[in-house]
Amino acid sequence: MKRKSSLRVQLVVILLAFVAGLLSLVYFVQTTFLDDFYKTNKIKSIENVGRDVATLVGDSDMDETIEHVAMSNEVCIRVVSNNESYSYTGACTLRGLDNMTINRIANEVANTENSEKLFDNFHYQRRPDEKPEDVYIFAKLFEINTEKVMVMVSSGITPLNATISTIKSQYLIIAGVVVAMTIVLALILSRFIVKPIKQINNESKNLSKGAYDGNNVKPSSEEFVQLNTTLINANEDILKAEKAKKELLGNVSHDLRTPLTMIVGYGEMIRDLPEENNEENINVIIDEAKRLSTLVDDLIDISKMDSISVELDRKPSDINQLLTSVYHQYELYCRNQGIDLKLQLSDAIEAELDEKRIRQVLYNFVNNALNYNDKADKQIIIGSEKNGEFYRIFVYDNGEGIDEKDLKNIWDRYYKVDKQHRRHHIGSGIGLSLAKELLLAHGFNYGVDSKKGEYSKFYFDVKAL
Ligand code: ADP
Repeated sequence: MKRKSSLRVQLVVILLAFVAGLLSLVYFVQTTFLDDFYKTNKIKSIENVGRDVATLVGDSDMDETIEHVAMSNEVCIRVVSNNESYSYTGACTLRGLDNMTINRIANEVANTENSEKLFDNFHYQRRPDEKPEDVYIFAKLFEINTEKVMVMVSSGITPLNATISTIKSQYLIIAGVVVAMTIVLALILSRFIVKPIKQINNESKNLSKGAYDGNNVKPSSEEFVQLNTTLINANEDILKAEKAKKELLGNVSHDLRTPLTMIVGYGEMIRDLPEENNEENINVIIDEAKRLSTLVDDLIDISKMDSISVELDRKPSDINQLLTSVYHQYELYCRNQGIDLKLQLSDAIEAELDEKRIRQVLYNFVNNALNYNDKADKQIIIGSEKNGEFYRIFVYDNGEGIDEKDLKNIWDRYYKVDKQHRRHHIGSGIGLSLAKELLLAHGFNYGVDSKKGEYSKFYFDVKAL
């Protein structure tokens, strides 16, 4: 597998790429558009000042106010009326304009639609020996009591090349600082993320031994708390499974040993005492051998389910026929044992299922119904009933029932309510977890209704074809 770079490196690279992108964007905007921004703002500013001043002309304190406006906006203002003219602010560009130029400007403004005009890049030369200057001039023409008045506002255009180059050199320093800060930030962030991951990774090496210790992990966020909890739970499950496996092995060996002892004992007896060679004794050997065979079959099934998903051979099946056949299987045994076994059928329906597997489920249910019942008047019902849009197939017994707290667990592999091992009449007793796997594979809803000391009713629901 290709080796991946560490989370820390990835985080640094991602953050650096992000910051570099951001810095380039700001750099581009600053150096490319700064000049345009500056010019647009300057023009807007002198236009606004010009319009404001036009409203002030004629006021008694006009001189003072206009002077103030000129100073605070760093512009030059000149108001011309009937050739009488005033200039405001110190070294004002407009002060030196001769009458001819002013008249030229006034004529141009008079020809515009709303009597105002912006002259950009106006070449202005204060004296013949001086270098001409580029200025913006905004001029507005209006009348007060038939007197013609023109307000002119101007501002010099400062070349921004020097500013831009200052920004560029400052930029290098800023970029350096930001990059260094980003690396530090990425390292701090990665510490928060990487440290708990490393701790969890180290601890999880003990998981297979069931020795994961959540206390050795110091989670830095809720997600790590959750991951840690999940692994603590998995660890508990592993320990539980380990314990249950040992228990199961003990039980299975017991189940294997009992029939084997009987087979060997009866075999030897028949060999040594020819008069004991009768049908009854031989049937004991056959029955015990059958029990062994069932046990081995169940063990093979359960080990298969660990490795591959159950493969089903589904076919439309006559439910009543299936239930009747299961009933007949137990009929003789129950009659001999004085057990009241009943068959209770609902509508004749067909459902799609793997008959062999479902038969196995039903055998498990019936075996349990026989095993967990110490009452004198044992009663078992194998049946089906309509349940909404489904048909419920069930095995009912009036046996010892199941405590509510155990109801959820009895389907778990290895779970036994009664920890004391008992010898079952038929089957191995790994039953319900096997039944659960088979019913899940079919996609059938399944469950149990029970009341401790009174009854149990194990069921699953099939859909009629
Ligand atoms: P086992 O029979 O070997 O214990 P199962 O998986 O068949 O294994 O059953 C799990 C547990 O569920 C049993 O130990 C038993 O306590 C309980 N149980 C199953 N069927 C019944 C029943 N019909 N009545 C009462 N308890 C039952």
